[in-house]
Amino acid sequence: MISSIIDDKTIERLRAFINGVQHIVITCHKSPDGDALGSSLALCHVLRRLGKDAVVVTPDMAPKSLEFIPGVRELVVLTKHELRARNVLNEAQLLFCLDFNSMKRIDRLGELVEPLKVRRVLIDHHLDPDDAFDIMISHPDASSTCELVFRVLMQMGLLRLMDRHAASCLYVGLLTDTGGFAYSCDNPEFYEILASILKRRIDRINLYNKAMNTFSADSVRLQGYAVSEKMQLFPEQGAALITLSKEELERFNYNRGDTETLVNKPLAIPEIYWSVFLREDTDKIKVSCRSQGDFSVSDICARYFNGGGHFNAAGGELTCSLDEAVALFKQILADLFPDKDNSQEQTIQEQE
Ligand code: 5GP
Ligand code: MN
Repeated sequence: MISSIIDDKTIERLRAFINGVQHIVITCHKSPDGDALGSSLALCHVLRRLGKDAVVVTPDMAPKSLEFIPGVRELVVLTKHELRARNVLNEAQLLFCLDFNSMKRIDRLGELVEPLKVRRVLIDHHLDPDDAFDIMISHPDASSTCELVFRVLMQMGLLRLMDRHAASCLYVGLLTDTGGFAYSCDNPEFYEILASILKRRIDRINLYNKAMNTFSADSVRLQGYAVSEKMQLFPEQGAALITLSKEELERFNYNRGDTETLVNKPLAIPEIYWSVFLREDTDKIKVSCRSQGDFSVSDICARYFNGGGHFNAAGGELTCSLDEAVALFKQILADLFPDKDNSQEQTIQEQE
């Protein structure tokens, strides 16, 4: 039995908000991932089947690797369709904010959204949300925003409108935000939700392969290069660091999404329980962190990398050079492990 974790009053308010409007905009965080796109597009599908004019507006483009998600081609992308985005926002009577906890996470779209006189509904699973929302459905314990969208639909009695398309979208978020059902999915109800989604006869294997195991040849080579040539291990501190410069990315014809799962790779090594990936972007260093077990990378990203995220998966940004970012990483090692020699990479002794 899937329990009702959202209180009835919130559900009734949400029902009243939706019933009272026709034009609904849904938005999600910049550099949208499978959960951001999956949850937004699933909600959009269902609202349309309810007779609403619903549109998903994103701050920037979806990566090529996620173009298979049903509805991605209909996204209104601010950086690409500026005029259309402005028009849709001006018509909006209700705004859903999915898979982010602060307006800072939607970049310039935040500036366009701020003056709008519309109600805002947050559905999210990140820690410490802003309080700039009329309804807050914030559950950091949830596996994904897709799980929360499912629960909202269930509690509103709208699951009958969740067709194969919407179910496929939700499946992608449940899958990708748990690293392929590896973490953040200890709640048995997660599998009941999955069962309900599978009953919509989604093309599960195809979605799994596209979401988890499809990379271009350049991307596979780039990941191999990064692991073989650029991974530094600090086993005494359980840490790994991978860096890729702009020049290295260009050498492998980098496209967004090409390094999506790279930061997880060092965690396969038993001694390593947290991993940092620094990618040199045009005007910033993008930071990705992952950990296993009782080690919070969201704390590290909030404290050092102007970011945040989840306990075991977080990220941030730095406006400095790649060398300075590496120096900061070494500083973190020194701060967290003052008794260890943090000056250089250590080798892992071969087991006899
Ligand atoms: P990724 O490493 O895949 O980019 O992000 C992992 C998680 O960290 C995501 O859930 C994302 O929401 C969060 N995250 C990534 N980048 C940032 C950032 O710049 N700021 C904040 N607050 N969170 C981030
Ligand atoms: Mn998410």
